[in-house]
Amino acid sequence: MKTASTFNDALVRVKSLAELANINPEIIEGLLHPKEIMMVSLPVRMDDGSQQYFSGYRCRYNSILGPTKGGVRFHPNVNEDEVKALALWMTIKCAVVGLPFGGAKGGITVNPKALSPMELERLSRVYIRVLADFIGPHRDIPAPDVYTNSRIMGWMMAEYDAIKRTHAPDVITGKPIELGGSLGRDDATGRGAYLCTLELINKMGWNLTELSVAVQGFGNGGYHVARLLQQAGCKIVAISDSQGGIYSEDGFDIESLWQGKQQSKQVKGVYCHGSVCEIVKHERISNEELLTLDVDILIPAALEGVITKNNANKVRAKAIIEIANGPILSEADDIINNKGIKVVPDVLANAGGVTVSYFEWVQNRSGQAWTIEKVHTQLKERMTAAFEKVWDLAEKEQRTLRESAYVQALRRISSAVEAHGTRDYFNHN
Ligand code: GLU
Repeated sequence: MKTASTFNDALVRVKSLAELANINPEIIEGLLHPKEIMMVSLPVRMDDGSQQYFSGYRCRYNSILGPTKGGVRFHPNVNEDEVKALALWMTIKCAVVGLPFGGAKGGITVNPKALSPMELERLSRVYIRVLADFIGPHRDIPAPDVYTNSRIMGWMMAEYDAIKRTHAPDVITGKPIELGGSLGRDDATGRGAYLCTLELINKMGWNLTELSVAVQGFGNGGYHVARLLQQAGCKIVAISDSQGGIYSEDGFDIESLWQGKQQSKQVKGVYCHGSVCEIVKHERISNEELLTLDVDILIPAALEGVITKNNANKVRAKAIIEIANGPILSEADDIINNKGIKVVPDVLANAGGVTVSYFEWVQNRSGQAWTIEKVHTQLKERMTAAFEKVWDLAEKEQRTLRESAYVQALRRISSAVEAHGTRDYFNHN
C-alpha cells in the first residue's frame, strides 16, 4: 500500500536528512520545489482507426549540477506526484555518484502491454514531439525506466532527430547499440546493485556462498542482479513479477527462468505476458509474502512503497538492497533500522543505470565507442568509490547508509549552489 503522496514522502526524507547535513535552509527550501514540470495530452491513432489520448509528464527537478537526467516510465499508475518524487530521487542519486547531472523523470499513464508495437511506437514518438523543446543534450536527457527499453529509446531519438533536423544521439541514453547506445547499459542497473551487494557482504564479513536472496520484480534490474549474484555463488530462493512469486529452498537457475519469460514475450512482441509462475516447479508465494521471507538479502526491484509501517516489522532479511526507486516508505525507516537491517538505499544501489547512461552520453559527445571492459571497469570504480564514501561517513558519524548518502548528496548540491555566486540570490528565474 502506498501513501497518498509519494512526493510528500520523498520531501519528508529530504527535510529530515537536511537537518543532519547542516545545510543552509534556503538551499533546502530550493530543493523542495521542482524547477519545471510539463503535463501533456498525447493523441495516438490506434490500430483500429480510433484516436486515444494519454497523459504524459516530464519533470526537470533540479539542474544545479548539470543537465537534468532521468528515465521515462510507461505504467498505468504514472501521475504528476510520482514523477516529481522520482525526479527528486534522480537529483539525489546523480549527486551521490558524482555525475555532472541534475535530476529529472518522465512518464506516460498507460498499460503498455495492452498496446500493439505500432501503437507503442506512435505513443513514444508523440511524447517526444510535444517535449522536443523541453529536452535536449544540454538540457534534459531521458532514458529507460519501468516498462520502457532500448527499442523505445531508439524511436524517441529518431523522432527527436527528425524534428530538429539533426543527429543528436546524446539527447537520450539507453539506446540500441546500433544507434549509439553503450555496451553494458542493458545490465548496468543490476550490475551496480550487484557491486553494492558485494561491497556490503565484504564489509559485513559474510560468506557469499552461504547467502540466500529474495528478489521482488523480474524486470531488467531484478533479472540482472539475480543473475550476477547467482553466478557469484548466492542462492536466489525467491523471485516474483507482477503476477506473483515463486519460492524454492534450493534456489533457482535465473537464466532459464529468464529464457522462459522471453519465450512468452515473443508471442506478443515488445512486452512479456508470461509470468515466472508459469515456468518452473515452485512453491507459489505472493509479492507480499516474498518481502517477509526468512532470507539473508532482500532486493525490492519493482515499484515504490512496498515496505510500509504495516509490514516492516515482519521483514526478516539481514539486508535490503533497494533496486526499485523508493521501495521503503519513510514511515518504515525507523522500524527497519531498529531491527538492525542494513539498507543500501536506492539513490546508491540503483545508480548503476544512470552511471552507464552518463558513459553513453560521454561517448556520444566525443564520438567514441567504449569496450565492454572499459564500461565495466569504470562502473566498478564509480560504484565502489561511492559505496566506500557512503559507508565511511555512516561509520564515522554513526548514521544509516541512507542518511549518509543523502548527507553527501545534499552537501554536494549545496556547495554547487554556493559556487554559483549571487545571481540566484537576487533573481529567481
Ligand atoms: N531510470 C533509471 C533510474 O531511475 C535510469 C535513468 C538514466 O539512465 O538516466 O535511475
